[in-house]
Amino acid sequence: MGTNTVLANEKKCGTCEYWQGERTISRMIGNKPHSISVKSGSYPCAVQAGKTVQGIGTCSKWKKWSSI
Ligand code: SF4
Repeated sequence: MGTNTVLANEKKCGTCEYWQGERTISRMIGNKPHSISVKSGSYPCAVQAGKTVQGIGTCSKWKKWSSI
């Protein structure tokens, strides 16, 4: 399965603490995360029971991923 890129400063599922999909920080600039490589496909969200979301999705419950 492929991947998508989400920028670290975007409020998307791929940069959200609650997203359960696989992701890695793919690029650092000046010691800060710049881009995240998120696995494509839909994965659970820890705060929305029964819902699966793509890393490029968005919602109002977004909370910054602790690794960035
Ligand atoms: S659906 Fe909302 S709370 Fe869940 S991972 Fe995406 S941005 Fe975060």
